[in-house]
Amino acid sequence: MKKISIVIPAHNEEDNVALIHQRIKEVFLKLDTYKFEIIFVNDGSRDQTQAKLEQLANQFEEVKFIEFSRNFGHQPAVKAGMDCSNGNAVISMDADLQHPPELIPDLIKKWEEGADIVYTIRTYPKQISIFKRKTSILFYHFLSSISDVNLVEGGGSDFRLMDASVVDVVREMNETDIFLRGLSTWVGFRQIGVPYVAAERASGESSYNLSKMLRFAFTGITAFSVKPLYLAAYLGFIFSVFAVLGYAIYVIHSFVTQTEISGWASLIMTVVFFGGLQLIIMGIIGMYLGKIFKQVKERPNYIIRSKNF
Ligand code: UDP
Ligand code: MG
Repeated sequence: MKKISIVIPAHNEEDNVALIHQRIKEVFLKLDTYKFEIIFVNDGSRDQTQAKLEQLANQFEEVKFIEFSRNFGHQPAVKAGMDCSNGNAVISMDADLQHPPELIPDLIKKWEEGADIVYTIRTYPKQISIFKRKTSILFYHFLSSISDVNLVEGGGSDFRLMDASVVDVVREMNETDIFLRGLSTWVGFRQIGVPYVAAERASGESSYNLSKMLRFAFTGITAFSVKPLYLAAYLGFIFSVFAVLGYAIYVIHSFVTQTEISGWASLIMTVVFFGGLQLIIMGIIGMYLGKIFKQVKERPNYIIRSKNF
């Protein structure tokens, strides 16, 4: 019998863990040709999530949990679950039921048909704010255009199935600031997408706010592209050409008209502009430097406090 491991990161999801377990169990009642396990990763929850998980694990043998020593973030949580899984395929999904468990049979079907990675394409229900919808679409467009990884629009959620062979590859990757959404595209293999409608959060609050989303964006971009680093070279080249042309024009102009060109305001603005530009570019270099700094320390992506398997 093939075994499916389901990895669910949970950060302050006390009311959702039992719900999602119930829904998944119902799905597998119909899929009785498969064994399954649910690996909850408690990512430093400050509510009763851990107690609820222990209670569930006592009741049901398919429930497993990993407790982090603190909050490490959603991506490390998914990675931890994958690292500790041993199914023939691993499905990762959110704890808040935004990823409908009822899609699992479709994912498994595509996998049985030969796909190594079955990703999901999110189509939004009307309730989701326009802001979140638009920023998400923009983000993936932007990311695809500046990085070497082609990300699918709406394919950016962490609801996907991976064959054990892919999981083995991902397990070996120990980069800091791990970004699975990009990695799962980057690794290649045979990939196929399945569309679904994202549901609303069952209960609790989203842990992502604007600043977390921005940080996520920077992580994604810097993890998959060095193009921002070339920005300095391009801009430097363009501005140098302008400067040389401008210089020539002004010299000729002042010779022909026999006048001096005045204007300290424009001079100051130019100085300020280039000061700003240089700081931005130094900041970009700094971001990569920071990544290298984090990487050379070789700290783990997560620390496990306890685990029941
Ligand atoms: N999550 C996590 N660690 C965090 C933030 C979130 O493990 O620091 C989990 C959370 O419990 C949920 C999933 O990641 O299962 C997605 O988080 P959320 O629903 O807050 O994000 P959104 O759906 O709003 O993008
Ligand atoms: Mg959510």
